[in-house]
Amino acid sequence: MRITEVEPILLRGTETYHAGAGGAEATDNGDWQLLVRVATDAGLTGWADVETLAPAAVAVIAGAGMSSLGFRTLGELLLGEDPLDTARLWDRLYVGSAYYGRRGLAMQCLSAIDNALWSIKAQAAGMSITRLLGGRRRDRVLAYASTLFRATPEGMEAAAKGYVAQGFRAVKFGWGVFGQDPGRDRELVAAARAALGPDRQLLVDPGWYPAGWTQPGPMRTLRENIALVQWLADHDVGWCEDFIHPERFEDYATVRAESPVPVAAGEQLATRWEFGRFIALGCADILQPDLSRCGGLSEAQRIMALAEDAGVEIVPHSWLTHLLTGHSLQLIAALPRARFVEFNVAQSALTRGIARAPFALDADGMIAIPDTPDGGVTVDEDFVNAHRAA
Ligand SMILES: [Mg+2]
Repeated sequence: MRITEVEPILLRGTETYHAGAGGAEATDNGDWQLLVRVATDAGLTGWADVETLAPAAVAVIAGAGMSSLGFRTLGELLLGEDPLDTARLWDRLYVGSAYYGRRGLAMQCLSAIDNALWSIKAQAAGMSITRLLGGRRRDRVLAYASTLFRATPEGMEAAAKGYVAQGFRAVKFGWGVFGQDPGRDRELVAAARAALGPDRQLLVDPGWYPAGWTQPGPMRTLRENIALVQWLADHDVGWCEDFIHPERFEDYATVRAESPVPVAAGEQLATRWEFGRFIALGCADILQPDLSRCGGLSEAQRIMALAEDAGVEIVPHSWLTHLLTGHSLQLIAALPRARFVEFNVAQSALTRGIARAPFALDADGMIAIPDTPDGGVTVDEDFVNAHRAA
């Protein structure tokens, strides 16, 4: 089998990322979305979504590379290759883009391509990605509703009650207005905690820079971050997430050592090397590699081994279309321990329409993990074609 095409598909929507003042649902990236489609001469096709600067990513995948290795574009590195050789191709893409890649945009594109290759591999093998990763350890996993902070306590209460009514047993609020007014931050968290009641889990993602500001404001100091995790503990918070500058590993280690609540982080990190350093310094209790950023399923498999050796948990970050949720569920089914799947309840019309999936909460607030080569996810190609950017 040979790869015949690596197509970046740039989609345009009409909504913007925002959280409302009231209880109304927030909206994720509604303006642009990038998909990657890898086609083969055997008729098998792999799809993946990627959270990145979508218009620029098109050039990284399908643009013109330069002659020297290290400055090649990803698509040209793959044409004619066997899509089943996922580890070899990961190295080829990494080295081939190393002088402009390694992290950020190029790594995010590499991640999507890797996920698409795993989808092709599952179809070729006639078994789920989980089985290719080492086998299913669970059939379902607890879902947490993942959304943005609302601007008022009343909005938080209404939103939290809405997730309870939908059957969620865990909810995460992130970013939005959090960090702009410390007094209001406490009121927002208290309102969510009260509305969820004692039997449901509340997760908090304060953001590592003040969100919604057109100018980046001052970030919390080390001492302020220690104070933050201490008052969050008063509200029985399940974890505090991604609240420190992502390059400041030592700060993470210091705050985690003092924190009465678990520290979750890693959505900004990529590759086994970065996660390896993060783990070695003792930065987090829960690692959150995002399959569309960290290097894809190939790299997540390596991060999973590092985490297991170190005795830390993994809960993949996944706040995009059902393609990413589906790939994340396949990884989750293979993890030694898995407390959650992150479920994006704030999908825009664009991210919601791209793929269909049977993911639904059961009576315990859990989602069944499909054991099929497609992971239960089907791309709506009519929707995709209708939203292609000119
Ligand atoms: Mg986060």
